Amino acid sequence: MSTAVSTGAVRAGVAFFGAESLNRVSFLRNDLEFVRSSLEHASTVFIPFVQGEAILSRGNELGICELKLQDEWFSLRPIVDRLLPLLNTEAARVQESGANLTFLGLKEGGDFSYKSQYRGSPYYAIDFRPSSTTLIQSKDLGPLLQAPQANRTSVLEMTNAQASLYSHARMYLDWLAKYNYCPGCGSVMYPVDAGTKMQCGNKDKNVHCNVRDARVNNVCFPRTDPVVIVAIATRDYSKICLARSKRRVHDTVLYSTIAGFMEPAETVENACSREIWEETGIKCHDINLVSTQPWPYPVNLMVGCVGLVDANGTDDKIDLTHDEELMDAQWFSTQDVVEALDKYNGTAVVQFREDITFPGKTAIAHQLIRFVCDKYKRSLASL
Ligand SMILES: [Zn+2]
Repeated sequence: MSTAVSTGAVRAGVAFFGAESLNRVSFLRNDLEFVRSSLEHASTVFIPFVQGEAILSRGNELGICELKLQDEWFSLRPIVDRLLPLLNTEAARVQESGANLTFLGLKEGGDFSYKSQYRGSPYYAIDFRPSSTTLIQSKDLGPLLQAPQANRTSVLEMTNAQASLYSHARMYLDWLAKYNYCPGCGSVMYPVDAGTKMQCGNKDKNVHCNVRDARVNNVCFPRTDPVVIVAIATRDYSKICLARSKRRVHDTVLYSTIAGFMEPAETVENACSREIWEETGIKCHDINLVSTQPWPYPVNLMVGCVGLVDANGTDDKIDLTHDEELMDAQWFSTQDVVEALDKYNGTAVVQFREDITFPGKTAIAHQLIRFVCDKYKRSLASL
């Protein structure tokens, strides 16, 4: 079985959640002097979360809250002063400190400078999880605990810049909150490298740990789970196969692309071919990478592809009996989809027919469907 790979000539725009506004300067995270000085700088921006969810901006525009150390509404200075001595120590664990802190990057502008070379406003995300035994307690958090918080609906309505910053912060904080014990020996782990890695806390050299004692990768890294998502089209793009999931049966009738988690030792192309066959019965081995999208629910990377199928009555035959994940899958006329997209006004879903919708613009599925439509229109124009 061969799988052709090519990069689509029509590129999708910047994905929602995928706009990078910061320079991550990842090589500076293990430089304690950089971390300390950036945490203490007046221009540094902190994105506050409480129990894993961001606080909303207090301004008129929908967005996430950004606080400086000496913010008028709430000063983080006393909290950061107490967290600074804990950096790279076991006491930085959220169970002891009451806060997870992670460095996001430098934003252009701002007067912070490190080694006269790296300038900008440092950005950190901080997630407060206070308890009666933590260093930072509820009483230290003033108005933060009562402030309105983001939810999935509000995040999807934010600008892409704000949603992408949220996504970046949330993925690190979600990982820091969930992964507290070493997978090698079960000891507690604690954050290092400005909250971007977790170190095994096993100090007993006689107790082997295959994480701590490894030559490389001897820390735990943040997790990203790749998901392939693929629009299936006939080779001339005149038809597109979209499917309705059983899991979303109570929602509006939504037809979308095929998606599934990648598995170990699987290429993106083979994962697409497998998911397509398992879910729809369609045999598709011509997979084209179109674009990717970080998706912070919880820590996914959507790998968006288009799969081209020969409409020969065999390869394109739909059979839902293998995986039985889908309620329905159908070949639709791409021309009909083009007309629905022409009328689309940016809402959460695209109205296709009276009783059928497609995903709206924030979803990569929408971009993939649009990609097929653009290819179809170009093929018509070249006739
Ligand atoms: Zn360990």
